[in-house]
Amino acid sequence: MDKSFTVTTSQHGDAVQQELDAVRAQLNDLLMEARHNQEILSRHQTLDIQLIGSQSFRELIQHIFVTLAEICELDQVTLSLINSQHNLQEMLADLKIDNTEFPFLLFVQNETDLRQYGKPLKKPVLGRYQASQHAKFFAPCFEQASSVAIIPLIRQSKLLGSLNLGSNKPERFISDMGTDFIERLGSIIAICLENVINSERLTQIGLTDALTNVSNRRHVEQRMLEEIARARRQHYGISCMYLDIDHFKKINDVHGHHGGDEVLKETAKRIKAELRLSDTLGRFGGEEFIVLLVNAHHTDAKHVAERIRKSVADKTFMLSMTGLCDVTLSIGIATLSDDHNLGEIENAAQTLLLRADRALYEAKEQGRNRVCESLED
Ligand code: GH3
Ligand code: MG
Ligand code: MG
Repeated sequence: MDKSFTVTTSQHGDAVQQELDAVRAQLNDLLMEARHNQEILSRHQTLDIQLIGSQSFRELIQHIFVTLAEICELDQVTLSLINSQHNLQEMLADLKIDNTEFPFLLFVQNETDLRQYGKPLKKPVLGRYQASQHAKFFAPCFEQASSVAIIPLIRQSKLLGSLNLGSNKPERFISDMGTDFIERLGSIIAICLENVINSERLTQIGLTDALTNVSNRRHVEQRMLEEIARARRQHYGISCMYLDIDHFKKINDVHGHHGGDEVLKETAKRIKAELRLSDTLGRFGGEEFIVLLVNAHHTDAKHVAERIRKSVADKTFMLSMTGLCDVTLSIGIATLSDDHNLGEIENAAQTLLLRADRALYEAKEQGRNRVCESLED
């Protein structure tokens, strides 16, 4: 037997084996990569579904700040929204979202505030963090990012704002990187934002009194049930004020219906200025308003009512057509304390309202321009 042949054959066998192992390893790498990509794809699909499925502004913002940050492994996510006529901030106030709830939600006045390196923001801008360009986008973040992506949110050629992503890894966002994925994310978020803002506005219109812009009767009644239920769960008191403009018929007679409408608008404005964001103000019809004060006992309610009474009575109204007009209002207060918040919620709401109405009647009886409270609880 030829020994050299045996050696050659076994050497050849080794080489084939090595090649096979290399191919196998390569295949394994490819398989792992495919699996990894599949995982990324499915995580991104989950993100898309959550963003698109958002039913409210609050829910969408939460998905952007929490879900997006988690799924895309980002260290910082902020959102800058253009708030040209303060419309968005008013919408947030209506939704009872206060500034501290979403510190990463920023408002800018116009497109100029979003310019990057002196140019309008039309395409995503990726690269190293530069304080002169990016500090305003990441102001509320504790740490400074290493690399950032500023993504325009555009809907029907209109810039709504920008989605701002920050990473502690310097190589995460590089200026000449492909931006397909990022642009797609920007488009989805822009569509979702437009949708939830429109839908919140529509809901708001249905719940708002067109003349005074405060809640309408339906909304106050609905809020009352929600607030009584919440007060019951969280063990605090709730107060209700029934407010009625004095001699409003006479105001209408002297200043005309248009003058009367102006008085209603200005009165609503003055009442609102004395309330907290968590309180509810509604027009109950005609020249009657309702205020719900949450987490307020009768002494708090009395203070607020007295402030409202003074803010209307102490400063003469200036009407556009007929000039000066003195206005006063009478206020009835009723409080539902924690230990008396019992029985059917609908009954509790009805009783509270009835007691406030009776106290209002008392204030009228005693001469108007005053606050009376219902002493039963
Ligand atoms: P009191 O001090 O006892 O409350 O007297 P009042 O004149 O304010 O009360 P009354 O309920 O007799 O009159 C309310 C008036 O409010 C009658 C109605 O014509 C007027 N009114 C109701 N809705 C509107 C409105 O939307 N605009 C205007 N301008 N007037 C309204
Ligand atoms: Mg009345
Ligand atoms: Mg009246």
